[in-house]
Amino acid sequence: MNDPRAARAAELAAHLARVEERIATACEAGGRDRKDVTLIVVTKTYPASDVRLLAGLGVREVAENRDQEAAPKAAECADLPLGWHFVGQLQTNKARSVVGYADHVHSVDRLRLVGALSTAATAAGREVGCLVQVALDAGSGERGERGGVAPDAVGELADAIAAAAGLRIDGVMTVAPLAGEYAGQPRAAFDRLMDISSRLRETHPAANMVSAGMSQDLEHAVAAGATHVRVGTAVLGVRPRLR
Ligand SMILES: *Cc1c(COP(=O)(O)O)cnc(C)c1O
Repeated sequence: MNDPRAARAAELAAHLARVEERIATACEAGGRDRKDVTLIVVTKTYPASDVRLLAGLGVREVAENRDQEAAPKAAECADLPLGWHFVGQLQTNKARSVVGYADHVHSVDRLRLVGALSTAATAAGREVGCLVQVALDAGSGERGERGGVAPDAVGELADAIAAAAGLRIDGVMTVAPLAGEYAGQPRAAFDRLMDISSRLRETHPAANMVSAGMSQDLEHAVAAGATHVRVGTAVLGVRPRLR
C-alpha cells in the first residue's frame, strides 16, 4: 500500500480489532455483557486525521488529556459523531475551553475545579458529565501525584458536583497507582475503585460510570467491573516522547 492514509487506516483497524478481542475475551471470562463496557480511545499526541480515521472505523468515544492539544483537535473533528472525554489534570483557567467540547471530564479532583467547571458549563449552556478521579495511593487529605483525591474525599466532591449547575455526577475514575500498597496490583486497585463506586451509588444511583483500565491493564479493569476503559497505545501505537 503506498497511500499512507490507507495504510494508517489498515493499521488502526488491525489494532482496534485486537483491542476489541481483548475486551470481548475479558467480558466473557468475567461473565459480563460486552455492551456493558465502552471503549474510549485516547488520542493524545496523535493528529486529528487519526481521530477521523478512527471515527470511520466505528469508534464513538475519544479522550484527550491536554486542553492546548484537545481544543483544536476537537474543533477539526466537530463534524464527526464522537463523544469527547477529558482525562488529564485540569487547571481551573482551562475549564471554559474544556466545557466547549468535552462531554465528560474524568479528572475532577477538587472543589475549586467543580466551581470553575460549573461556571463555564452554565455560561456555555452545556451539561457536562463529571467523574471524580480517585488517587488510590493518596492518604486522607492528600492528592495523588497524577491528580485525584483520596478515597475518603470522594463523597464530598460528588455531592458538590451533583449540586452544581451545569454539571452531572456520572461516576469515578482511576489510574492504577505506580506507588503505595496498590503498586503492581491493578486488580486490587480496580476492586477498590468498585467499592468506592458502590458507596457513591448509594447516594447518587445514576453515577454508574467506572472509568478504569488502559492498554496494559484493561483485562483487570473489565474483570473488576469497569464500564469504561481508556485505551491509547494499543490502538494508536507507542506515543512519541516529549510532545
Ligand atoms: C494516556 C492515558 C490513557 C491511555 O494510556 P495507554 O497506556 O496509552 O493506553 C488512559 N488514561 C489516562 C488518564 C491517560 O492519560
